[in-house]
Amino acid sequence: MASEKEAALAVTPSDSPTIFDKIISREIPHHVVYEDDKVLAFRDIRPQGPIHILVIPKVKDGLTGLSKAEERHIDILGRLLYVAKLVAKQEGLDDGFRIVINDGPQGCQAVYHIHVHVIGGRQMNWPPG
Ligand code: ADP
Repeated sequence: MASEKEAALAVTPSDSPTIFDKIISREIPHHVVYEDDKVLAFRDIRPQGPIHILVIPKVKDGLTGLSKAEERHIDILGRLLYVAKLVAKQEGLDDGFRIVINDGPQGCQAVYHIHVHVIGGRQMNWPPG
C-alpha cells in the first residue's frame, strides 16, 4: 500500500468532487460522530492514533484546502475548529489532542475538500514528519 505521502503526491489538486462528497451523500459507509446542518465529523478510515476524526464542511464552496480560503469562508472555518473541539471533548481527549489541516502536495493533502484532522489518545511528537 502506498504511504500517505506517496498517495498525496499522486493526487492533482482540483475542485473536482472527492470521496467526501460520497460520504456526505451517504453513498459510502462511514462512522459519523457529529453532524449539524453545515458540518459532518466522522472516523478516519486509516487512523493515525486511537482516535482520528475528520471534520468537514457539507458544502465545499471552493474550499478545497485552507490555501483557497476567502473572507466568505471565515464562518465555516471557525465552525470547523469549534466542532473539532466538541468532538475531542466527546471522545474524552481531556489530556490534549492534535489538530491538523494538510494543505497541498507538500502538506501531504490527498483529498481536496478541506478537512480538519482531530487525532488523539496517544502522546504526540514534535516536529511532525
Ligand atoms: P493524508 O492522506 O496525507 O492524511 P489528507 O490530509 O487529505 O491526506 O487526509 C485525507 C484523509 O481522508 C486520510 O486521513 C484518509 O485516511 C481519509 N479517508 C480517505 N477515504 C476515507 C473514507 N472513505 N472514510 C474515512 N476516511 C477516509
